[in-house]
Amino acid sequence: MKKNITSSIISFCWLSIVGVALVHKSFAVAPRPARPQVTIRVCIGVSSSLKLAIDDTFEIIDPVTNSLVKKGRNYNRTIHLESGKITDDWAFNGSKIYFRTGGKSCFSLNGNLYRGNVEFIIEGKKVVAVNHVSIEDYIKSVVPSEIHRSWRQEALKAQAVAARTFAYYHLLKNRTRAYDIAYGRQEYKGMDAEHAKTSWAVDVTFGQVLQFKNEVFPAYFHAVCGGYTEEASVVWSNSENTPRGAPCTFCKNSRYYEWNYFISEKDLLKKLNNAGFKLSYISSVEGYKRSPYYPRHRSLKVVGDTEHIIPVNKFREIVGYGNLRSSIFTIRHQEKKFFFDGKGWGHGAGLCQYGCKTMAEQGVKYQDMLRHYYPDTEIKRAY
Ligand SMILES: [Zn+2]
Repeated sequence: MKKNITSSIISFCWLSIVGVALVHKSFAVAPRPARPQVTIRVCIGVSSSLKLAIDDTFEIIDPVTNSLVKKGRNYNRTIHLESGKITDDWAFNGSKIYFRTGGKSCFSLNGNLYRGNVEFIIEGKKVVAVNHVSIEDYIKSVVPSEIHRSWRQEALKAQAVAARTFAYYHLLKNRTRAYDIAYGRQEYKGMDAEHAKTSWAVDVTFGQVLQFKNEVFPAYFHAVCGGYTEEASVVWSNSENTPRGAPCTFCKNSRYYEWNYFISEKDLLKKLNNAGFKLSYISSVEGYKRSPYYPRHRSLKVVGDTEHIIPVNKFREIVGYGNLRSSIFTIRHQEKKFFFDGKGWGHGAGLCQYGCKTMAEQGVKYQDMLRHYYPDTEIKRAY
C-alpha cells in the first residue's frame, strides 16, 4: 500500500483488465483515450440460497483451475449449499464458482441488477456472492445511495473521491482475502441506483483518491458532524493512518444538527442487560473519556450495583444508532430518566456530507472541501 500504488494493483487480481472506460452518453463530448479499469470485489449477498439470472450469454468458470465449466445463454437458477458444496443442481458442485457475463455485462441477484461478473464462495454455512466490478462502476452506484443527487456538483465530486478512496484502501488492504468490501460496508444497490448526474461526478474525478502521508487511507464520511469532525483512529481506537479532525460550521442548517433523546432507567437497564452488562439498577451514566481534540465522548461510565466503562460506539449501538445519533452529547438524569442532548448524525469521522452540501452552495470547489475535511492530504490519480 505504498507509493507505487499503480503497480500494486496490476498484479492484484487475474480479472483486472485494461479496457475502454464507459463514457456517460449524456455528458460525452468527444471520445476519451482508453482508461485503465481496476476491478474491485464487493460482497453483495450472504444467504443459504441466492437467485441468479443472466439475461444474455454467460460462461461458468472454475476459479480454482481457471477452466470453463459451461457456457450458454439466459441463466436463471438458485445457487445453494448441498452437503457443504455450492451447486445450482445443473452445472457445478464445488467450493467456489465464477460467472463471466457476456453481452450486456450485467446480472441480477435476488432481483437487483449489477454490472460486471459474480463469484460464489462458501463462508460458514452460507453462500456468499462477490461482485467483480470496475471500481468506477461501483462508485457510480455508491454515490447516489450515500448523498442526494440533487446536491450541487462539487458536493457530488467530493463524495465520489471520498467513496473511491475508501473503496481503494480496502482493495489494497484485502488483496489476500476472498473479497475487498464486506457486505453493507458502503451503500451499494447496483445499477438501479445510478443516475446521470452522479455518474458524471464520478467520470470527471476518474481514478482520483486521497493520500495521507503518501498512503491511501480509509476516507470515512458521515451525514452531519455537529460542529467538529473527528480523527477516525480516535473514533475506532485503532492505529489506522488517518488525518486529524476539523471544525465545521457548514452543517448548522441541517435538521439533524441538534437532537434530543431520553430513555427511562428501566429501559436502559434492559438494553444493557441484553448486551451482557450485569447490573440490577443504574444510578448514573456519565462521560468517562473524551476525544483529545473535540467535545466528543470516547467512553461512558455506567454505575449501579456494578460499574462499567463502555466505549461510546458500543453504547450507541446498545441504545440504538438512530436514538443516540452521534457521540457529541450531554447527559441529564431526572425523574428516573436519562436525557441526551446532542449534535450531529453519524460517527463524525472524515467528511461531513451536509457540510459539503453547504460549501458547494457557497461556490467552494471539491478539492478545497476534501482538504478541509481530510487535513494534510493530497489528491492523486491511483490508476
Ligand atoms: Zn459538519
